[in-house]
Amino acid sequence: MSDLAGMSAVVTGGASGIGLATARLFVERGAWVAVLDRDVDAVPDGLRGVRCDVSDDASVRRAVDVAAGALGGVDVLVNNAGVGASGTVQDNDDAEWHRVLDVNVVGIARVSRAVLGYLRRSDRAAVVNTCSIAATAGLTRRALYSASKGAVLALTLAMAADHVREGIRVNCVNPATVDTPWVQRLLNDAEDPVAERAALQERQPTGRLVTAAEVAQAIVYLASPAAGSVTGTALAVDGGMQGLRLRPAGT
Ligand code: NAD
Repeated sequence: MSDLAGMSAVVTGGASGIGLATARLFVERGAWVAVLDRDVDAVPDGLRGVRCDVSDDASVRRAVDVAAGALGGVDVLVNNAGVGASGTVQDNDDAEWHRVLDVNVVGIARVSRAVLGYLRRSDRAAVVNTCSIAATAGLTRRALYSASKGAVLALTLAMAADHVREGIRVNCVNPATVDTPWVQRLLNDAEDPVAERAALQERQPTGRLVTAAEVAQAIVYLASPAAGSVTGTALAVDGGMQGLRLRPAGT
């Protein structure tokens, strides 16, 4: 399928997990892609890696200009780079709060404002932010991370309103637990990784983790002209975790 031929996409955090699956799917669908990541050494052939730290404004501006120059413009921005944090509100100190909000929230503002000029020149402009079920459901021991993703949801809506009359659509995806290197790292740190994985799977009504490829499909849909009337939405890719209330199995 090459329905996105001629389009140019920038994917932050595109060297791993959801971002990498998204970048690959864009290429499969015919788009040109630049991956902006702080670690581009392992970016596979076929994807243009540009080193970028979304918590550093100068790095973002440089990387966006390099990417736009190489791609001949930017039609699509996927703000996907993010970091995790665990604990209750008691557990993270000020430095940790500032670090996580700086990447997960201010990072989106930095990259978006650097890309906006290019998006305004596109007739198929779209932004997709990677939010999380943590924005819409109360999860234990995720106070800081949830606050950051709640801000991403609100920012998505505000950006959608600000830019709709310029022809720029803005949406987000809300995944539940996705089987990515990030989650694998969390499992490795757990006391009992097998029990922890089982607990995460059970939390999702489908009984399994979401795949990065499934989230990528949702992101690419929202970014594509097929979603031309979709803006200001949060698309859950969560195995039913947000919306369904099941009775215990067998009852
Ligand atoms: P991942 O760790 O596999 O990939 C994240 C990528 O972001 C990495 O390549 C990393 O180098 C990059 N990155 C981190 N900080 C950066 C920075 N300052 N500048 C540039 N790049 C940076 O993680 P993932 O699971 O694919 O997560 C991607 C996004 O999805 C994140 O925003 C995360 O919050 C969100 N998310 C993940 C899950 C999940 O269960 N995995 C669920 C919901 C939402």
